[in-house]
Amino acid sequence: MFFIDKNDPIYSALGNRLVSRFVESCWQPYAGSYINLYFDDFRRGGGMFKLTGCQQHNLCCYCMRLVKETNRTLEHVVPKSVNDDDVLRRYQYSGLVSPYIFILKNKNVHFHTPPFPHIIAYQNLVLSCDGDIFGNGIVHCCNKFRGNKDIIPIMFDSSVGQMVNYAKDGTMIYSEALNSTVLNLGLEYQTLVLIRKMWYTLSVQFSVDEISMARADRSKFVELLEIMEGMPSELKQTFSNQTYWNLLFEYYWFYEYYRGDN
Ligand SMILES: [Zn+2]
Repeated sequence: MFFIDKNDPIYSALGNRLVSRFVESCWQPYAGSYINLYFDDFRRGGGMFKLTGCQQHNLCCYCMRLVKETNRTLEHVVPKSVNDDDVLRRYQYSGLVSPYIFILKNKNVHFHTPPFPHIIAYQNLVLSCDGDIFGNGIVHCCNKFRGNKDIIPIMFDSSVGQMVNYAKDGTMIYSEALNSTVLNLGLEYQTLVLIRKMWYTLSVQFSVDEISMARADRSKFVELLEIMEGMPSELKQTFSNQTYWNLLFEYYWFYEYYRGDN
């Protein structure tokens, strides 16, 4: 995982402006109320996708998958459905979630930002994949798999690189305090583990140029697997398949991770 700095002034200024403008556009003075101040209306504008995509290099904040328009989502760190101030405060106590967000309960009172309503706040939104790894409608990880379950938003901790690591066999290394977070996000799902193990295996033997070639042409990739020493047959068989080959390269981040680790 990598650190997402919600206090980075460039992104937070843009994010806050986006949210403030949307909030203001929803205020109807004659009705004395906010109209259509909903997450879905905000999301449709597309601005927050662009902003978080830019900040996160279009990578899912949890599984590191390169997301596309078809599987990208905006994940609420404090779940969208939360309506209880105690729950919000619990997230904020961690020091990882901004104090400048609140739960909007009364839409008949004109308010000024900050603070920002948690359903659309830049500080509460991150780019995530939908967790549908194979594109068959079944979710295994990340945003949709998590739903409303509790997590510790470790991607907001600048030491996330020390807190979460990946072993050579593709499993994750983390402290006991993160057990339920990893479980609730499905990050040890078997296919994700296998993909990481494959990237470790490839990172040991192949250069960036060789991997770029294999990314552009599946037959080159299969050739590399053939000449590779010590490639477990399980990995060779799985990733020679077109679906897995495509999938593998969506998690290219792990190639860089393991190369840096070697
Ligand atoms: Zn993901």
